[in-house]
Amino acid sequence: MTLDNILEEIKKAQTIVILCHESPDGDAVASSLSVMHAVKQLGKDADVVIPKYSKVFNFLPGADKIKDKGRYESYDLAIAVDCSDLKRLVGEEEYFETAKKTIEIDHHSVNSMFADYNYVDPVAPACCQVLIAMFEYFGINIDKELGTCILAGIITDTGGFQWGGVTPETFEFAAELLRKGVNISKLCQQVLRNKTKAHCEFEKLIYERIEFYYNGKLAVAYLTLEDYQKISKDSGDDEGLVDMIRDIEGVEVAVLLKEKEGTGGFKASMRSKDQVNVSDIGLLLGGGGHHNAAGCFVPGTLEQSKNKIVSLIIQEMNKYSF
Ligand code: 5GP
Ligand code: MN
Repeated sequence: MTLDNILEEIKKAQTIVILCHESPDGDAVASSLSVMHAVKQLGKDADVVIPKYSKVFNFLPGADKIKDKGRYESYDLAIAVDCSDLKRLVGEEEYFETAKKTIEIDHHSVNSMFADYNYVDPVAPACCQVLIAMFEYFGINIDKELGTCILAGIITDTGGFQWGGVTPETFEFAAELLRKGVNISKLCQQVLRNKTKAHCEFEKLIYERIEFYYNGKLAVAYLTLEDYQKISKDSGDDEGLVDMIRDIEGVEVAVLLKEKEGTGGFKASMRSKDQVNVSDIGLLLGGGGHHNAAGCFVPGTLEQSKNKIVSLIIQEMNKYSF
């Protein structure tokens, strides 16, 4: 079984590198650190390589060990977490490609299964929740530090237990950690409610710019390179902004277009409230994600990108009855 193979590869490897997707969110960073803590219990000192991530996650146990480059040019084993596609390991893919063996642990349903061993639970609400079952199988002790990382990932991807996909196990695990002394409300504050001033500046811009389509059911806003230059280029300052668009009354689908330097286009962050599967829309443009949260790259000027994504979403929305 895959988990036996994964355990065997971890035990065999002398050098291990842990990687996650570009612009990593809390689930990606926390999954990486969780795997680092777990393999430590198996006697392995793994490198977590994340070239750029939000300083919001620096409170996570073990975050001080995150490296922007690996210690070795190539590793015996590379483990990718919370990443559905090799393309998304931007800046880290060479470690994956040169590793002797590769493992993918993930929860994205659209998944290219790009590793030698792929452990993917497409219905888990967070990659960190996938890790719980794996760690239990390996006999890893989920102590306060490891538990804090795992819960931080779950809190990120479930928006503090509010989005779909939360299971009884999610709460059972959270209850177990409460008993171990993890402060869940503090963790929610650190992961979800901790806005930088730059984030608020972006919010102001977005509120001014929201455009509505499809009887107010589709809402779109954007951030340009000029905005990033003026406000902040720090990774993480523009995280979670698309949620505020989805929260608007009557909106079923929200899109935030973020211009990306040197690419000639925009990254679209999409969210839906309920029925619309935005991952289907992401897939049409070579991206992906989950039913209610997905992304893709849209080439072109602001007008071109906006028109492209709006028309694709409207086509998709026509399939639903609201
Ligand atoms: P976000 O809008 O927060 O960047 O991404 C929302 C969800 O979609 C996340 O689960 C993220 O991993 C996924 N996602 C975003 N962009 C892409 C993409 O270009 N390709 C794929 N496969 N998934 C993406
Ligand atoms: Mn995730």
